[in-house]
Amino acid sequence: MPVPLFDTKTPLAPLRETILERVAAAIDAGRFILGPEVAAFEQELAAYVGVSHAVGVGNGTDALTIAARALGVQAGDEVVVPSFTFYATAEAIAAIGATPVFCDIDHDTRNITAETVRPALTPRTRAIVAVDLFGMPAEIPAIRDAFGLPVIEDAAQALGASLDGVRAGALGDVATFSFYPSKNLGAFGDGGAITTDDGELAERVRALRFHGSRDKQNFEYVGYNSRLDELQAAILRVLLPQIDAWCDGRRAGVQAYIDAGLAEHLTLGGAPLGATPAWHLYVATHPQADAKLELLAAAGVQARGYYRLPLHRQPAMAPYLAAGGGAPELPVTDELARTNVALPISPVFTREQADEVVAALAAG
Ligand SMILES: *Cc1c(COP(=O)(O)O)cnc(C)c1O
Repeated sequence: MPVPLFDTKTPLAPLRETILERVAAAIDAGRFILGPEVAAFEQELAAYVGVSHAVGVGNGTDALTIAARALGVQAGDEVVVPSFTFYATAEAIAAIGATPVFCDIDHDTRNITAETVRPALTPRTRAIVAVDLFGMPAEIPAIRDAFGLPVIEDAAQALGASLDGVRAGALGDVATFSFYPSKNLGAFGDGGAITTDDGELAERVRALRFHGSRDKQNFEYVGYNSRLDELQAAILRVLLPQIDAWCDGRRAGVQAYIDAGLAEHLTLGGAPLGATPAWHLYVATHPQADAKLELLAAAGVQARGYYRLPLHRQPAMAPYLAAGGGAPELPVTDELARTNVALPISPVFTREQADEVVAALAAG
């Protein structure tokens, strides 16, 4: 049987009737932008994450831009970001006119640490973006303690993860989520959110998502038109209560890989002490990653290499490298970009599927 990289359909099937009812009710209510569904979802997301405020926005990229603006990041400021991540992490900073300064990552967790951030700091550094990559929480409290700079947690891949009992989305000064359909909590279109314990920052975020206005009459900032819409919020309210069970399914899938003997064929990553990952993706490494991908494809297993061209090597980022003091040397990033193999994982991933993946690798 072919093994898909993601399975977003099977977990949704039992919820179909409820989703259709809630969507119909939202349509009948006739409120489509910033109505009761968004307000209720914001409260439920904040309660789940364990913070005082959640604000729905249009997507995870806007969430990063708006969070950085609300923190006070301006044109000309430097913001330290990882290079081994989805492009939007850096793009959202560049969109403000600020300079993304790329730093390396820890080999085992694939996340930035205080140690990898330090060489990227300058007197112009205004903030740090820590990505919880592939659903592994970054060691953000240690980064905040080390430098006293605000940390934006890009938790787009990490809803349902935690570090020392603190949920992803509550680890930094402000955090951002994406509800792109393939994410751990996926809408039926685009969506995003910002979470924080800082009430004043949350108010600035609320203004920025609506053209920089708090009352629709006075415009305080040049802002954005970036809202989560009522239909998406109505759907997300049905899905959010499933997130722990879905993440448990992902974690059971990773255990199935370990039990099936995956470590005999690929090098597995590690986790920081106290981390419970959400496993948006399950990513191992091999020196001949592309040969392993061919082997898997031949057996009907969908796998892929992620971020093969890391951000500090992307053409659009070249001007920012010059502004940030030249091309950085990021050896761990370059190695992981070349050697990573993302394997199938989902809330309903089975031991039989793990056995198939491992058998395909063993055939090589
Ligand atoms: C998906 C993702 C984003 C962007 O989210 P969109 O909703 O697609 O804009 C940002 N950062 C990371 C790490 C992501 O995985």
